[in-house]
Amino acid sequence: MKLYLNVPYAEKDEAKALGAKWNNKIKKWYIDTRFENYIKFAKWILKETDEAVIATEYIYIIEGEQKCWRCHQKTKVIGLGIADYTFIYGEPDEAQYEINIDDDILHLAWTYNERDIPPKLLKYLKDHYSVKTGYSKTIEAECFANHCDCCGALQGNYFLFDEPTSPLSSDINGKNLINRMSKLKIYGIPIDDDLQLNWDLSFGDNDYAYFEYGHFEELILSSNPSDYWITYEELYHL
Ligand SMILES: [Zn+2]
Repeated sequence: MKLYLNVPYAEKDEAKALGAKWNNKIKKWYIDTRFENYIKFAKWILKETDEAVIATEYIYIIEGEQKCWRCHQKTKVIGLGIADYTFIYGEPDEAQYEINIDDDILHLAWTYNERDIPPKLLKYLKDHYSVKTGYSKTIEAECFANHCDCCGALQGNYFLFDEPTSPLSSDINGKNLINRMSKLKIYGIPIDDDLQLNWDLSFGDNDYAYFEYGHFEELILSSNPSDYWITYEELYHL
């Protein structure tokens, strides 16, 4: 699979010697190799983080609905999601990896910083949902969040992504789990290249239920009608 790396100019020869290739159009280094070989390039993957999630095949939008805390009207809320991924962690010179593919389990994800979302996906989200960076009184800081479709009030990230009572959470059991999950729409965006995404992932025992009971649909983001999978180039360089 292809994975783009942030290689500083001074380290380009080192990356090249290890097998990285140069995309002259977007001026960026990438590797095109098996997941197992990603750790050879851990120096650039783990540059700003001590663990990296690299999504493969699809990234997801999980869409639900909740009552706005301020105006009490129903409003759409979304989360992001990752299912198949490679996890890379540890010290760059002795990095470890874990491949999580083909287990059909979707994990809810989010980021407080909209810069962590590929620009083309971010534009799609802003065009279709009331998401934006706004000021949260709870955390007393700016953060990327859902806002009410009716009154514009910020719908707290903590509630949506960390509370079991959230309409997007799978942290509930039995019939209630089926009820909640069957109200969700799950949009899978086919991606051509692997994507290192600095999103917070939540892992729950019932995460299988997103695919089991949610309504799945594919979402083709590529603007070229003959391309089913969207490339890194297009996601990041509109
Ligand atoms: Zn409202």
